[in-house]
Amino acid sequence: MSLDTMTTTEIIDRDAKYTSGVYKKTPVALVRGEGVRVWDADRNEYIDCTAGVGVAGVGHANPAVARAISDQVNRLITVAEGYFYNDVRAQLLEKLAEITPDPLQRSFLTNSGTEAIEAAIKFARGTTRRSNIIATMRAFHGRTLGALSATWKRKYRKPFEPLVPGFHHVPYGDLDRLEDAVRDGDGAAAVILEAVQGEGGVYLAPEGYLKGAREICDRHQALLVIDEIQTGFGRTGRMFAIEHVGITPDILTVAKAMGGGVPIGAAIMRDGIELEPGLHGSTFGGNPLACRAALATIQYIEEHHLVEKAAEHGRYFLEQLKRFERLDHVREARGLGLMLGLQLREKVGKYLTALRERGVLALIAGNTVIRFLPPLIITKDEIDRVVETLWEVLER
Ligand SMILES: *Cc1c(COP(=O)(O)O)cnc(C)c1O
Repeated sequence: MSLDTMTTTEIIDRDAKYTSGVYKKTPVALVRGEGVRVWDADRNEYIDCTAGVGVAGVGHANPAVARAISDQVNRLITVAEGYFYNDVRAQLLEKLAEITPDPLQRSFLTNSGTEAIEAAIKFARGTTRRSNIIATMRAFHGRTLGALSATWKRKYRKPFEPLVPGFHHVPYGDLDRLEDAVRDGDGAAAVILEAVQGEGGVYLAPEGYLKGAREICDRHQALLVIDEIQTGFGRTGRMFAIEHVGITPDILTVAKAMGGGVPIGAAIMRDGIELEPGLHGSTFGGNPLACRAALATIQYIEEHHLVEKAAEHGRYFLEQLKRFERLDHVREARGLGLMLGLQLREKVGKYLTALRERGVLALIAGNTVIRFLPPLIITKDEIDRVVETLWEVLER
């Protein structure tokens, strides 16, 4: 069987028969990508405002990243971080320290976002010798049992209870409730917050919230974990969203866009956040292939000024989305950089389908929000195309 000749139906039939069934997918089989575009098995072309949920920041099949990966494949794919040093990994570790705010120095490398959260939880509990973790309503931090304990959505949590004890949720944006929760009992090990809530519906942190959270953590010797798994690496128009407010967490979690599509994440920590050797680890974490992809991705973001482009094009995109607020069934357009949401007064499923049928892929967030996470290389013309299509679909 040749990859090029499989039809959509053949692909979907096989998948439906042999996959776990835990995903509810759109009936489109994507087989190729280039930059902001992707193609399905029937050769239909799409502008991709999903980018693999914000993963393909540097665009699909990015030539610089592809070259780096291909070189590393022929050099060395695997070196267990628990046993040996590696040149590429050492360079990535240094690079992460360089591009994050100063006190953030040391990284634990992972293969996904949820693992970066698991690491953050273990390093926080191990360092503080406290157990409580304070998270927020609408938060999404991942699906493994520790990260899921920090995630808010009842539907995701309920079937798997009891989850990890010691997790508490307070309303996002409410500093008084946060301080009460941090103070409770022996004091919290950590507060964990998204800089912009992504899966929950693209909600920006209210003015002063992240700074206030930093102060509360300092007052009560709790650690601040900022989850930038979705916002990191330029998405919001800064390399990291915390730069918009000038705070530094004790632990920063990153993943999605980090490897240009190759699975990699990290918990990046200041000096003094530590676990004894042997208390955490990962077989694949820190492997040279993923590290090389991440290095090439970061270098591409820097050399092509994608952070500045995300800021500029994000502003333009949001301006266009704001014009939809005059429609009766549109509640609000909001976003930061190229992390954008258009909230409707109804469920968005049928609009996502209509967009797709007209060649635009977008995401859902929190049921009523159409979310756009395009590659950071999206042009104004492409944004115009997306916005025109959105008018066709929403103006009934
Ligand atoms: C996607 C995401 C995660 C989970 O990452 P996975 O790689 O899917 O495990 C955690 N936190 C935030 C903010 C995310 O957007």
